[in-house]
Amino acid sequence: SEADEYVDRMKKLSPPDYITKRFEKELKKLNTLDPNSPEYAGLTNYLDILTSIPWGEVAKEEIDIAKARKILDEDHEGLKDVKDRILEFLAVGALKGNTNGSILLFVGPPGVGKTSIGKSIAKALNRPFYRLSLGGVNDESVIKGHRKTYVGAMPGKFVQALREAKVMNPVIMLDEIDKLTRSYHGDPASTLLEALDPEQNNGFMDHYLDERLDLSKCLFICTANTTDTIPPALLDRMDPIRLSGYISQEKLAIAKKHLLPKGLEKANMKKSQLKISDSVLKKIIEEYARESGMRSTQRAIDKIIRKAAVKLLEGEKSVTITASSLFDYLGTAPFKREKKLEGVGVITGLAWTSVGGATLPIESSRVNNDAKGFELTGSLGDVMKESAHIAYSYVQSHMGTFCKEKKDFFKKAFIHLHVPEGATPKDGPSAGVTMATSLLSLAMNKAPRKGFAMTGELSLTGQVLAIGGIKEKTIAARRMGITNIICPKANESDVKELPAEVTEGVTYYYADTFNDVAKVIF
Ligand code: ATP
Ligand code: MG
Repeated sequence: SEADEYVDRMKKLSPPDYITKRFEKELKKLNTLDPNSPEYAGLTNYLDILTSIPWGEVAKEEIDIAKARKILDEDHEGLKDVKDRILEFLAVGALKGNTNGSILLFVGPPGVGKTSIGKSIAKALNRPFYRLSLGGVNDESVIKGHRKTYVGAMPGKFVQALREAKVMNPVIMLDEIDKLTRSYHGDPASTLLEALDPEQNNGFMDHYLDERLDLSKCLFICTANTTDTIPPALLDRMDPIRLSGYISQEKLAIAKKHLLPKGLEKANMKKSQLKISDSVLKKIIEEYARESGMRSTQRAIDKIIRKAAVKLLEGEKSVTITASSLFDYLGTAPFKREKKLEGVGVITGLAWTSVGGATLPIESSRVNNDAKGFELTGSLGDVMKESAHIAYSYVQSHMGTFCKEKKDFFKKAFIHLHVPEGATPKDGPSAGVTMATSLLSLAMNKAPRKGFAMTGELSLTGQVLAIGGIKEKTIAARRMGITNIICPKANESDVKELPAEVTEGVTYYYADTFNDVAKVIF
């Protein structure tokens, strides 16, 4: 009977005493119930879940640094810093005897390998992997379960994770922890805190289970696109590791050594059946997938593989993709159409968003000569609007020092400053120098030097202040073929720390004040 099966299952496990007691109590109750009653069905469901939690089972953790390094290197191209951080983390675990208690957080734009590096860690530790997607979760019952009295009650995701992993110590990935939201169904973030807190997570309460659950042996790895929206109490517990995105060469290596072979294998296709040369892959990356991560590249490759499969089934022996046939497979390249903005009043800035670095052109133009004024457009956030006003005040009041004849330019000019693309919201202070340069270029009627991009916060007295995301910004500039970057002097040490592959071919100009910027760009 069902009861026998539950007893059998429990015999094979080593539950703590309080679970054994609970089990026996519920089993006794089951024997008194009519098998056709709804209570009976509810109770068998509970017992089924209770007895399928792997009580006392643990995967024997293996912390072998050499093996871990090999696995990380096999599965992932580049990412040296990230791999080093992971190995340090594992080394500490090896000395301590376990990796419990620490929570890694991978932060970075989409498609840079956060999820897949998490899987590699589980593989390296020889522990099962379970991924819990938190994007859009606004109901704490997803995490804590429903009370049994609730119709259609279910346990929460952690119970689910342990049942699926079949051990009490899996690697649990909490994916998109920055996209949790709060609602009238409770605050999932604070519930999560209970599960992640090493002081109390050996007694995590799942509402359905209605018993303490020991989560302290789990290794939690979180991922997020940005740390901005992670509640501070949660963020406090984590050890963030940043993945900033790839330059074209890295993307080429990843596509060639990982995405293409994996795609072919999935489609059960031989390497000889589909030929894509490096130059074609490069074209895909530069024209069809201009982003920090690998998502679009992966999509493009998968699309080519699907279309090639049709040709193979139609009788062709092998398919070769050439630069000119690429259009037949992928259609028009979305980025071919991207227009390069240049000329008087147009300056290329560098921005850092949750989806990676991006170039950000800023344009200003004189609307008329009768009135004085300043207008801003481009879905700018409050901080960015303030930066624009600072830039305007600064350039206006110092115009005479930059160009004597134009010192009164702003007195009779209605200026419009715009940040394309107009529909994309933008914020942050780091476009300050770019906006000021745009205004200065307009006032002097002088186009900036070509091949330059800049970033830096501007103070009201013309000081250039430090910014974040210099690596992401460099990658974005290079993607656009820009190799001269003006950035704050205060960021010089950050630049020096960048890996050589990232800064290769790039010249940095360090600005302490806005004068330094103007000297370089005009
Ligand atoms: P998201 O934020 O969208 O969830 P993610 O950072 O989790 O993105 P993944 O799904 O891990 O991204 O990566 C996308 C794809 O690119 C995967 O197939 C992954 O294996 C591959 N990939 C990314 N970076 C690398 C790398 N350095 N080496 C090999 N493969 C990589
Ligand atoms: Mg992911």
